[in-house]
Amino acid sequence: MKITNIETICLSRMHEIENQWKTFNVKTLKADVAIVVVSTDSDIIGIGEACAYGNPTFIKIWIDKFAPEIIGKDPREIEFLPHPVGFTMEHFNKKNDDFLRGHDSAVGGLDCAIWDLKAKINNTSVSKLISPKSKDSMKVYASSGVRYDWREDPNQLIEETKSYIDLGFSATKVRIGTKWTWDNVTTDKFIGLMRDLSSEVGKKMNLMVDGNCNLNIEQATKIAKELEKLNFLWFEEPINKDDIEGYIQLNASVDMPISGGEQLTTLAQFVPYIDKRAYDIVQPDVGEAGITECLRISKYAENNGIKVIPHSWHNGLMVVASAHFASSLSNPQFVEMCMVQGPLQWDILKEYPIKSGVISIEGPGLGVNLAENLTKKFPYIEGNYFVDVVR
Ligand SMILES: [Mg+2]
Repeated sequence: MKITNIETICLSRMHEIENQWKTFNVKTLKADVAIVVVSTDSDIIGIGEACAYGNPTFIKIWIDKFAPEIIGKDPREIEFLPHPVGFTMEHFNKKNDDFLRGHDSAVGGLDCAIWDLKAKINNTSVSKLISPKSKDSMKVYASSGVRYDWREDPNQLIEETKSYIDLGFSATKVRIGTKWTWDNVTTDKFIGLMRDLSSEVGKKMNLMVDGNCNLNIEQATKIAKELEKLNFLWFEEPINKDDIEGYIQLNASVDMPISGGEQLTTLAQFVPYIDKRAYDIVQPDVGEAGITECLRISKYAENNGIKVIPHSWHNGLMVVASAHFASSLSNPQFVEMCMVQGPLQWDILKEYPIKSGVISIEGPGLGVNLAENLTKKFPYIEGNYFVDVVR
């Protein structure tokens, strides 16, 4: 068998105005997808979703650069596959950061597609190819809390969370809302909202908070101590992602599990955070780093007593790949699913493998197939998926 072609399918869908989600000072306009398809001279293909944070057009450029080295090879005997290089950390916020970030996303999508292909050739699932002990299903948590506006009605967050109970989810992750300085939001005000949320839904679902790197250490410490009392499961990226000393200090001073790492793509980047106990939970992303690198990261983390709960904030194919990876861990916990991506999220696939907040992990490969006529239904729309809001 030989690989005959590698292509990148770029897709988009504009959000309706009422479905534009927001967090801090950012408002989204559309949902993007980048899918890597690896064809062979048999009828078997491999598919993998690259994290669209890398910008689909840049991901396509990188995949086109990688392709000549891989086309013509037998997928069972591939020697060359590109590795993530950690551009997202070193080059984030620098010139051309999106183009560089696209490199690792392209690697992530390609790596997932090759795993899909190899598992299909072996007539097994990706999860069982990783480990025969992998679970056949996983709990999925509803990841959102990006619709409420402190200036309008913060209690919308509680109503939204209740709607996920109705859909059968047993866990949800919320965010810290629109930019606090716009509306004089204080840690006490936020803690008040978390108390109300916990008292309304805490008996029916597990709760987590993502600070999206927007708090300072004093705010984060105060909030972490309260979240611990309210039995939240983890507090994600509360402070600047690069402030490793801050994370070490915070993690040592609170019992609340602190998580992070969604923007790191290599084991080398994770090592100091793990060695210095900056996080209790690491959150690598298969669409940004690939399953292969996520396995290296998870092995190192688990050997050092750190939990792994993967990050996944895009579309259905990434949720599925994330589930295959997560189910192989020695202590599988949750799979993350973004709740605000709109119909594009699952319309890219023929299957919807989630029922009552649980995902079935099946083969062959990743166990899912691309829907027909995707480029006609969701043609790619140029431009950034978000805008900065000024108030
Ligand atoms: Mg996060």
